[in-house]
Amino acid sequence: AVAVRRPGLRGAGAGDRARMSLEVEILTLFPAMVAGPLGESIPRRIQERGIAEIRVRDLRDWGLGRHRTVDDYTYGGGAGMVLRPEPVAAALAELRRDETTVVLLDPAGEPFRQSTAVELAGERHLVFLCPRYEGIDERIRTLVDRELSIGDYVLTGGELAALVVVDAVIRLLPGAIEADSIAEESFSEGLLEYPQYTRPARFMDLGVPAVLTSGDHGAVRRWR
Ligand code: SAM
Repeated sequence: AVAVRRPGLRGAGAGDRARMSLEVEILTLFPAMVAGPLGESIPRRIQERGIAEIRVRDLRDWGLGRHRTVDDYTYGGGAGMVLRPEPVAAALAELRRDETTVVLLDPAGEPFRQSTAVELAGERHLVFLCPRYEGIDERIRTLVDRELSIGDYVLTGGELAALVVVDAVIRLLPGAIEADSIAEESFSEGLLEYPQYTRPARFMDLGVPAVLTSGDHGAVRRWR
């Protein structure tokens, strides 16, 4: 496993586990692709505070034979390599617990939405499977609980999709960010968020709506 935390950050040891609200494992062939973004900014602080524990797992650790093979040619012929089921089955046999939800990132999955993020934020243990290359042996679908797509386009691998999902999920965890920010955000009530302004009061001849500087909180609420 490759810990996402950087050296010098407070580690989450066994003593912290009791108050972890969410454990996340990301199964990938490219751990470094995932570790960087989760080690910065808010995702990093969420882990430092023990709100979520994120572990990045190298799928090759469950690879086959001396070369730790994880993929093979596609039956029937065709371009590209396909992820074999055995390494995935072995990894999940080790990682899965009663409370685990295994999520496959896949262009054919259900569309990932804010409501999906809310559902996943209520889980205890999420394992994200990030295939690469041509995709997966179809039988891998029987090993997972959910399949998610982040949009109708094709990425080179599941890593960026997993990062999108994990980022959207962990910021919803209690204590991650201010509850008010989440309550008023886009998609939280089926609407997009209202326009926001900060200083300067005039920028390139563009002002700020007068109601926002009126001090009338009721008027501000109605305007928003
Ligand atoms: N041959 C596959 C197809 O046509 O659907 C595409 C494989 S893609 C190059 C490799 C991997 O990237 C996929 O198995 C999936 O894990 C991930 N991926 C690509 N696009 C995705 C998307 N829109 N949402 C989620 N995962 C995606």
